[in-house]
Amino acid sequence: MNILEQQDPAIWQAIENEAERQRDGLEMIASENYTSRAVMEAAGSVLTNKYAEGYPGRRYYGGCEFADVVERLAIQRATDLFGAEAANVQPHSGSQANTAVYLTVLEPGDKVLGLDLAQGGHLTHGMKLNISGKLYDFHSYGVDREHHRLDFDQIAKLARELKPKMIVAGASAYPREIPHDKFAEIANEVGAKLMVDMAHYAGLVAAKIHNNPVPVADYVTTTTHKTLRGPRSGLILCKQDDLKDINRSVFPGIQGGPLMHIVAAKAVCFAEAASPDFRAYGQQVVDNAKVLAETLIAGGLTLVSGGTDNHLCLVDVTAFGIGGKLAEAALEKCGITVNMNMIPFDTRKPMDPSGIRIGTPALTTRGMKVEQMRTIGNWIIQALKSHDDETALASIRGQVSELCQGFPVPADATAPSAT
Ligand code: PLP
Repeated sequence: MNILEQQDPAIWQAIENEAERQRDGLEMIASENYTSRAVMEAAGSVLTNKYAEGYPGRRYYGGCEFADVVERLAIQRATDLFGAEAANVQPHSGSQANTAVYLTVLEPGDKVLGLDLAQGGHLTHGMKLNISGKLYDFHSYGVDREHHRLDFDQIAKLARELKPKMIVAGASAYPREIPHDKFAEIANEVGAKLMVDMAHYAGLVAAKIHNNPVPVADYVTTTTHKTLRGPRSGLILCKQDDLKDINRSVFPGIQGGPLMHIVAAKAVCFAEAASPDFRAYGQQVVDNAKVLAETLIAGGLTLVSGGTDNHLCLVDVTAFGIGGKLAEAALEKCGITVNMNMIPFDTRKPMDPSGIRIGTPALTTRGMKVEQMRTIGNWIIQALKSHDDETALASIRGQVSELCQGFPVPADATAPSAT
């Protein structure tokens, strides 16, 4: 019996159950992944005990010499990985990273242009209940009706009319590569700062598959736990000249002490993401998503934009006479975890939209390849068609479990032997 099990059996049991859920199901939420054991070890380390307000060499607490080593390594690895001049590795999350950039660049009431939440944007890109929408005057751009691609004519027109102080690029549910240079051109023309939130596809940028926003953007933010496969956290990349202001916005602007155990886990993740193995993983994520897309289309489903060139598919399920809520529930019964999602120009409500979002990063980390994607794509078709047939769903559930057994999760990996 381990210490947690003895001391707090309720929490231990919940964690055990979650481990089993992650092992025995197909995790296809596009923003989730499995970290390595090394990342988990750093995240579960004694650094959680340490207060380190401030920055390396300038802390408000004693005893920070090892925290400094960790944070300096994290900064160096982040800037090397993405070719950035400077980095702040302290944001606790993607939302914190975005909020810190806003605090740096904007005054309350300033105009900002960001992607519409209903067309793939994120809450922190101006949603009314989010601090971004409460403090700043966000306006939305979207995708075109026919091809569901970012509508750069509309973006340029809005930018010229509104003269925003900042343009925010990046998305939570956009299945295509984002041409950052087009955003930079528009931002330059109207004198706006450009922030790229690459949270979803940072891993593909690190793997050199998606174009890198760092050379053309003023600020790049990201989460570290999606395609990048690190701990749940955030990161800001910026120019050296802007670092002082960014640092001030993160601490003391919106945060207190950094989570040093998570900063350490980010450092581990950045080193992993610089490896040739990670590059192969990134390519496989995209290859898998493409084959999944082809399989879903062949099975009669419609994909937003007609396919994908990144890690996710946005699927309109209404052709099968159901909405996203029912689709999510039917797949859950099969052990396939996805999330319901609005599709562009959706006529249904956010709590029961027309679509589901399906991602391949986590399954790719488990070692699954295009062959498994074909199988899974066909299960998804079957499950959605038989959403009210409990026997059919149970049969798929059994096959899902069988498949999962052949692809262990990193948490179950044993350390390589020393011999
Ligand atoms: N930005 C984008 C594009 C996202 O998709 C997300 C998370 O889904 C975030 C920011 C926020 O990240 P977090 O949940 O870590 O605050």
